[in-house]
Amino acid sequence: MKPKFTLLGTGGWIPTARRETTCAILGTPQSLFIFDAGTGLSRLLEERFRPELEPGREVHMFLSHYHLDHIAGLVYLPAMFKDRTVYLHPPVSHITGDDPGEVIAGLIRKPYNPQSLADLPLDLRIVPICEGTHTVGGAAVSVRKQIHADPSVAYRVNDWVVFATDTADDEGTATFARGVRLLVHEAWIDGVEEEEPATERIAREAYVAHTSARQAAARAAEAGVEELVLCHLNPLRGDAYHQGMLASARKIFAGTRILEDGEGVEF
Ligand SMILES: [Zn+2]
Ligand SMILES: [Zn+2]
Repeated sequence: MKPKFTLLGTGGWIPTARRETTCAILGTPQSLFIFDAGTGLSRLLEERFRPELEPGREVHMFLSHYHLDHIAGLVYLPAMFKDRTVYLHPPVSHITGDDPGEVIAGLIRKPYNPQSLADLPLDLRIVPICEGTHTVGGAAVSVRKQIHADPSVAYRVNDWVVFATDTADDEGTATFARGVRLLVHEAWIDGVEEEEPATERIAREAYVAHTSARQAAARAAEAGVEELVLCHLNPLRGDAYHQGMLASARKIFAGTRILEDGEGVEF
C-alpha cells in the first residue's frame, strides 16, 4: 500500500454538500493519520473509505487549532473507532495559550454532547504535540506555529506533505515545506482583491488570518514542492471564483490543484 494523503473536507467555516470543513487523512502501512476534525471527518464513514477503518493500524489525529470548523467532528469519533485507541495530538498549551485537555473536555460534555470525554466508548488519549520533529506512528512529524486569528500549527510528515491551514501568509512556510512532494495550503481569497481600491479592504481583512491563492502559490514555488493543493476554500464563493483562484495560482506555480472532497495524492 502506497501512502496516500486524502482531503475529506476541502472547505472552511461552513460545510456545503460539495465541500465539508477541514479534515484530511494520510494512510500508511503502520498508521492512519488524521489532520483536523472538521465535518469532513464524516466522509470516513463512506463505503470507499471502509478499508481505512480496518483495525490493526495506529490512529493519530493532529489538530491545527480549535476553531469549530476544525474540531466539530471530534464527536463523530465513536462512530468510526468504537472500542479502539485514538491518539489525539493538539498543539501544546504554550503554542495556543489554552490547555488542550481542558479545551477538549470542555467541548465534549453535556449539554453539547450526550457523553463526556471520559465516557466516550473509545480509548481517546490526548498527547499534546510541541514544535519540532517527532517520530509518531512510524513517521517523522514536524510541527510549526503559524499566525492566525488564534494560534494554529502546520504539520509536515516525512518528505511527503505539509498541511498548512488557517494561517496568514508566512515566509516560514516555505522553509518548513522545502523538499516535500506536496504542499496542502489554505487559500481564502484569490489575491486580485488587493489590486483594486474597491476590494482592497477585503484583502486587508483576510490577510490578518488567512492567505490568498497567489500567496500560497508563491510559497509553493519558493519551497520547491512538486505540487500545491489549495484547501479551506471559502463557502461563500462559488465554483467560478475558486476556478479563478486556481488560474491565478497556476500563473505563479503551475503545479497547483484544487481537489474535491475524497480526492488525494499518493506518494
Ligand atoms: Zn478554519
Ligand atoms: Zn481558524
